[in-house]
Amino acid sequence: MTANILLVEDEPAIQELLAFNVLQCGFRAIQALDVTSAADEINRALPDLILLDWMLPDTTGVEFARRLRADQRTRNIPIIMLTARTEERDKVMGLEAGADDYITKPFSPRELMARIRAVLRRRMPQMSEETVTAAGLELSPTTHRISANGSSLELGPTEFRILHFFMTHPERVYSRGQLLDQIWGDHVFVEERTVDVHIRRLRQALEPSGLDSLIQTVRGSGYRFSLEK
Ligand code: CA
Repeated sequence: MTANILLVEDEPAIQELLAFNVLQCGFRAIQALDVTSAADEINRALPDLILLDWMLPDTTGVEFARRLRADQRTRNIPIIMLTARTEERDKVMGLEAGADDYITKPFSPRELMARIRAVLRRRMPQMSEETVTAAGLELSPTTHRISANGSSLELGPTEFRILHFFMTHPERVYSRGQLLDQIWGDHVFVEERTVDVHIRRLRQALEPSGLDSLIQTVRGSGYRFSLEK
């Protein structure tokens, strides 16, 4: 899965530098020169991470981070603050506003990318390229191969994403709406029963290996990937 990174930075040279590095790392870059256009982009589709400059022409990055944290829809988007302010209390203020990490200008592109990867890994494990294993399943996001109890498993792209999401978020119940947001992306107009169709296909694919019971229906709530019966 390619992560969409929203870059909120008003200095064109730094904006271009950020976009260049983000693309080099295989992510998608969405560019915004101020908070107003960043908010428009977020309205269109939720990014997977926001790189947020502190000093912006309309609203400060800190204020915007607070707003994002206060809103149900944007509450969980990882944020990395970018700033020329080096004082400890500024850093504390940024983190208190809800930033996940903080980097000071001038930054080394390498360090910035390492931080982006670390935050994505921590906040959105399904974005990571690492092979995941659980029960008798092994799934590789890079090769798109899955094995179930040693034999290879063929899945459609949506079932693949569902399984990857579940394997990186075990033991938690997700409603159909939450699964749509996480797997299809929010603002995608798909009916909730579509989730049921894909879950059914996923279970059918897992059946021969006896691993279909990992995908549990939680009555009235949604679905859970659980290693416990
Ligand atoms: Ca700035």
